[in-house]
Amino acid sequence: MRELRGVGVGRGIAAGPVLRMPDPLPEPDATPRTADAEAEKATVSEALAAVASELTERGQRAGGDAQAVLDAQAMMAQDPGLVDDVNARIDGGSTGERAVFEAFAAFQELLTGMGGYMGERAADLADVAQRIIARLRGVPAPGVPNSDSPFVLVARDLAPADTALLDLDKVLALVTRDGGPTSHTAILARSKSITAIVGVEGAESLTDGTMVLVDSGAGTVTVEPSPAQLADAETRTAEIRAIVNAPITDGALADGTRIPLLANLGNPKDAAAAVGLGAEGVGLFRTEFLFLDATEAPSIERQEADYTAVLAAFPGKKVVVRCLDAGADKPLSFLNDAEEENPALGLRGLRSLRANEQILRDQLTALARAQEATEADLWVMAPMVADVAETEYFVAVARELGIRVAGVMAEIPSLALMAEQVAAASDFVSIGTNDLTQYTLAADRMLGSVAAYQDPWHPAVLRLVRMLGDAGRTHGKPVGVCGEAAADPLLAVVLVGLGVNSLSMTPAAFADVRAELLQHTATDATALAEAALAAPTAAAARDAVRTAIAER
Ligand code: PEP
Ligand code: MG
Repeated sequence: MRELRGVGVGRGIAAGPVLRMPDPLPEPDATPRTADAEAEKATVSEALAAVASELTERGQRAGGDAQAVLDAQAMMAQDPGLVDDVNARIDGGSTGERAVFEAFAAFQELLTGMGGYMGERAADLADVAQRIIARLRGVPAPGVPNSDSPFVLVARDLAPADTALLDLDKVLALVTRDGGPTSHTAILARSKSITAIVGVEGAESLTDGTMVLVDSGAGTVTVEPSPAQLADAETRTAEIRAIVNAPITDGALADGTRIPLLANLGNPKDAAAAVGLGAEGVGLFRTEFLFLDATEAPSIERQEADYTAVLAAFPGKKVVVRCLDAGADKPLSFLNDAEEENPALGLRGLRSLRANEQILRDQLTALARAQEATEADLWVMAPMVADVAETEYFVAVARELGIRVAGVMAEIPSLALMAEQVAAASDFVSIGTNDLTQYTLAADRMLGSVAAYQDPWHPAVLRLVRMLGDAGRTHGKPVGVCGEAAADPLLAVVLVGLGVNSLSMTPAAFADVRAELLQHTATDATALAEAALAAPTAAAARDAVRTAIAER
C-alpha cells in the first residue's frame, strides 16, 4: 500500500479505479511528407470530420452551456479557411499532422491578437488541433476520457472547460499533479462538490485500473487500499452525507456566536441556488465576470439591471458587490489592454479603475440606483487596494455617488500592514485570501510550478489576517473573508479565531463549514488560531490545529 499526498479540496472521500487523462501530445516534427499529397489530404479530411462529429455528439450529451462551447469547437474543426490552409501546407510538403499543427497555431495567434472574446476562443482552437493530431496518430485524444463505468480521474492538470464538463455520474474524484488550492480547477471542483486533491506529487505514477482511495479531507491518495480502509471510508462517507443533509441553519459557533455564511457569486442567475443552500446574503459578487467578453465599458442601464437582479434576490440581506476587478486571469480590454510583463503586478483592480475614473463612477452610479430600487443592504468594495490613500479615495467617490456602505478588499500585504488606518477609513474590510496568499508568498496563482506556495494556511498569511481582525475589532468595523480559505472548514474556524466575523464562499461549501463551526466555541477558535500562528509552515499549521482538536 502506497500513499500520495496533495492539497485536498473540500472533504469528500471516494474510491475507484484510476483512469488517466492523456498528456498533451508533443509537437509534430517538421520532416517533409513522404506520402502522396492527395492521400494525405483525404486522411486529414476524414480526421477533421470525425473530430467535428465527436465534439457535436459530446455537446448533445452535455447540453446547456457546454453544448454551445463544444458546437463552436466542432465548427472550428470544419472551418473552410482553416481546411484550405491545412491543404495548402500539405501541398507545400508538410505532413498532415504538421500542417494541422501549423495552420491551427497560425489561426490561434490571429485570434489571440484580436483579444476579448475571440482571444478567449484561441485556447479552444489548440484543443481541437490536439484532437485532430491524436486521431491522425491513432492515439487517445487529450481531454477527459470516456468510460462506461465510474472512475477516479488522474490528470496533470485540468482546464476549466474540462472541469466544467465533467460527468459527475462517472467521475468519482479528481487527482491532479499540478494546480494549487486556488487554481481554477480547485475553485470549479469545489463549486461542483467534486472530491478532489490537487498538487499530488507522484500522481503520474498512477496507472489505469489501479484501485485508489481519495480522501480530500486528509489530502491523501491511498493506492490499493485495504478492505479495512475501504470500510472506514464508507463510514466517513455516511457521516459526510449526514452533514450535507443536515438542516440548514444560520452560521454559528458552538456557543451561539453568529458567523454569517455568505455566497460568492459571479452571475445573478446563481442567486436562487445560493438562497436554497442557505446563503445569508452575498459576501462577494464578482462584477467583472459579467463583462469578460465586452469590448466596451458596459452602460449604466445594463449594469443597473444586473445589480438590481442580484439585490432583489436578497431582500433585507447584506449583499457585498465588488467593483470591476480587471487584470491577470480576468482581463477587461476596456479597462486595460496593455501588454504587461507581470500582469499580477500590473495596472489592475482599483488601479485600473482609478485610471479610468468615469468607468468607476458609472458602476457606482448603477449600484446606487439598484440600492434605491431594492430592499437589500448593499455594501460596495474596491478590489486590489494598496493602502490608506487608495482606501480614502474609493470611499470618498462611493459616498459622493450615494453608496451607503463602502469598503475595501485586503488582497495586497501592504494594506494588511496598514490595517489600523485602513479600518478607520473604511466601513468594512473583506479579505481576499487568494490574492493575499499569492502576494505574501510571491507565488503566481496561475502557475502550477509554484502551486505549493499558494497555501492560505501559511502562518505569514494568518498573521496578516490577524492584523486585519484586530484592527476591525478596535475600530468596530466588520472584517470578512471571501477567498477560497473561507470554504476550507477547519481554516474557516481559524479565521474566526483571528477576528473574522463573516465567511463568504461558493454555496456548495456551506454545509461543511456550517457543520465545522458548530464544533467549536469562540474560545476554542482563538486557541486554534494561536496554534496555527505559532507554526513554522502551512503544513505544520494544519497539523497543529488537527492535533489541538484531537487532544481537546
Ligand atoms: C481573492 O483574491 O481572494 C478574491 C476573493 O478575489 P479573486 O479570487 O476574484 O481574485
Ligand atoms: Mg482577488
